[in-house]
Amino acid sequence: MSVVILGSGQLAKMLAEAGNEIGISSTFVVKHGVSADPVGGLGEVHRHDSDDQAQACLDSLPNVTAVTVETENTASSLLSLLSESFPVRPNTACVVACQNREHERQLLDQLNIPTAPHAVAREHSALTSVVEQIGFPLVLKTLSEGYDGKGQWVVESAKEWESLDQSTLTLPLLVEKKIDFIREISLIGVRSPEGEIRFYPPAENIHIGGILIASFAPAANLSNTILQQAETNLTKLMEHLDYQGVMAMECFQTADGLLVNELAPRVHNSGHWTMDSDVTSQFENHMRAITGKPLGITQTQKHTLMLNILGEIPAGLSAAPEPFSLYDYRKSARPGRKVGHLNLQYSDSKSLVSALHTLAKVWPNEFVQTLITQIKD
Ligand code: ATP
Ligand code: MG
Ligand code: MG
Repeated sequence: MSVVILGSGQLAKMLAEAGNEIGISSTFVVKHGVSADPVGGLGEVHRHDSDDQAQACLDSLPNVTAVTVETENTASSLLSLLSESFPVRPNTACVVACQNREHERQLLDQLNIPTAPHAVAREHSALTSVVEQIGFPLVLKTLSEGYDGKGQWVVESAKEWESLDQSTLTLPLLVEKKIDFIREISLIGVRSPEGEIRFYPPAENIHIGGILIASFAPAANLSNTILQQAETNLTKLMEHLDYQGVMAMECFQTADGLLVNELAPRVHNSGHWTMDSDVTSQFENHMRAITGKPLGITQTQKHTLMLNILGEIPAGLSAAPEPFSLYDYRKSARPGRKVGHLNLQYSDSKSLVSALHTLAKVWPNEFVQTLITQIKD
């Protein structure tokens, strides 16, 4: 079997590696000028400058079982064109629904899935009234292209709003209530062509400055009510979209239940813990689902911490200190960029704290200390 991955970053790399393990080969189709360092040696890389050229690349391949994406920000025109001749999985509509925050909210509203109170300001003249309608504190978000908190501004108070130079804002913007959540969790599910759905246990996610820095899986002390709410919501979404593959749903847990923050029609950073657990990894399950192979195990008896490495791989981490496993994405260093991650399996909070202290010796940063404060018994 052979899969075409539109993209060449770390998610493409991890998908291809998982595919290799189960006899699925991968070819990468990417725009000219985009680095393919992460996927080096894993399969052919085809370059294109236009949708037609990309289609010509695919037409030249002997057999294509499925085409998939590593990011929702894949041009909808390309996905639509390829769908005419190839099985695009998840289907184009699923990916397009997650490209624009307004469309994503419309989908969630339509399915009665709770989200933070929000409204869209389309032009400057409407901004003040939308801001007043939502109330402070609030978050302004660009409708598309944002990731890792880019394109977002938190406004805590009316005073802060008045001192903001509104002319620096580019409209339209999603104006959203800032939620005083208990914590952030994400649910990752996988759906087969026959409609079988399996869920991984939700992870608890720690963000700093809008960037995911760590996931604890499974999330500690998760009530059955919250778990059911999460699984019901993601089931509704996947069934509505006739989804095929892995999908992630990011949520805020509040005293009144879950609010969905955003959706990812793909494998997700908060699921990287599945590479070092007693489950089938999210990458393998995605490859299984899109090629029609039976789904693998998603329930775990273990505890795993996933720690993102931002900026560059610290020199002291050239080898992962026991008992961590290190994943190096082979990306060039850039401040705040996700260049790798560490996974750690732990048996209890005591051994987790002790492993983090070991890590602090080779990786002196505020994250380790912040994480230690997040550990629950
Ligand atoms: P990602 O890299 O996950 O795609 P993104 O740039 O698309 O991120 P969001 O997921 O919307 O952005 O926001 C990033 C983080 O910012 C959230 O995980 C959360 O920590 C914080 N955040 C976003 N919206 C809100 C909100 N309404 N209230 C409180 N915190 C928020
Ligand atoms: Mg996002
Ligand atoms: Mg997010």
